[in-house]
Amino acid sequence: RGALAAMHGLALPEGQFDADPHELAGLGKIRLESQLREAIATNGLDLRLQPLFDIRDNRIAGYEALVRWTHPERGPVSPMEFIALAEETSLIVPVGDYVLDAAVAALCALRDIGIAPLPFIAINVSPRQLREAGLIERIVERTRAAGLEPGAIKVEITESQALDYVQVAEAIAHCRREGIHVALDDFGTGFSNLAHLHELDFDTIKIDQAFARNMMGSARARAMVEAIVDLVHAIGAQALVEGIETEEQLDVLRALGCRYAQGYLIGRPQPLADVLRRNGH
Ligand code: C2E
Ligand code: CA
Ligand code: CA
Ligand code: CA
Repeated sequence: RGALAAMHGLALPEGQFDADPHELAGLGKIRLESQLREAIATNGLDLRLQPLFDIRDNRIAGYEALVRWTHPERGPVSPMEFIALAEETSLIVPVGDYVLDAAVAALCALRDIGIAPLPFIAINVSPRQLREAGLIERIVERTRAAGLEPGAIKVEITESQALDYVQVAEAIAHCRREGIHVALDDFGTGFSNLAHLHELDFDTIKIDQAFARNMMGSARARAMVEAIVDLVHAIGAQALVEGIETEEQLDVLRALGCRYAQGYLIGRPQPLADVLRRNGH
């Protein structure tokens, strides 16, 4: 592996998600829902932190919080499976609360071992969570109660069919007043709506990993990434490319003036204990 991987310690492969989606569906949604409810109540969720690399400053600027559910019979269940279920059943609210609390606790641990400047933690927020009142207030309240700035939390919003642009614009404005940064997630996939992008004052645009995957294979795919990074800069935002797995991909981003990279090359999603250990604790 390259210098970067060596610098941060070789990333250990994460536990595979062994649950077959069809089997999960077969379990019945209601059963799964009650098991998820149970997991929320009994510490059955946990958080992984994946480093976000600042290419310009050559350092880890933050971490993305990614939730995991260890199912009693099936082991780790991918968030791709249960976030959708949580959304349908409004369990997304307690899941989101868990993630926020765990992110604040992780920030406190990083602060307490003296990491400065303190990295931010990015949390994923679904359109449904955005519609529920009080999310931004909760971020402000929980961070302040822990003696942190609300800006230590960054919010990632995924584009989806359910995205209400007026509402997102309001949420962004509210975040901005509180010093919370906002990123647009998975840009360039299914629901990207270029017509609305100029109305939404995102700090960061996260370019979906599909682009990184194709980038080295063809000059056209690379030209796409270059054009998107330029577009992001033209609207005054920072670009992040997801799914960076090789030094070659990172070199391309550096040449394009792209600010951030995320992916297995920099680090896998890892438990807080591993992040602390990599920082010498
Ligand atoms: P996402 O926000 O796009 O998260 C990035 C996903 O890409 C993560 O999958 C991460 O493990 C994976 N990934 C990161 N680097 C690489 C790489 O170099 N190569 C490859 N092949 N994959 C990489 P994960 O953890 O399975 O999460 C899946 C999705 O579930 C997330 O996609 C996000 O949309 C959702 N999710 C995760 N945690 C939460 C949460 O707390 N709340 C909400 N609402 N959604 C969440
Ligand atoms: Ca995300
Ligand atoms: Ca993403
Ligand atoms: Ca995604």
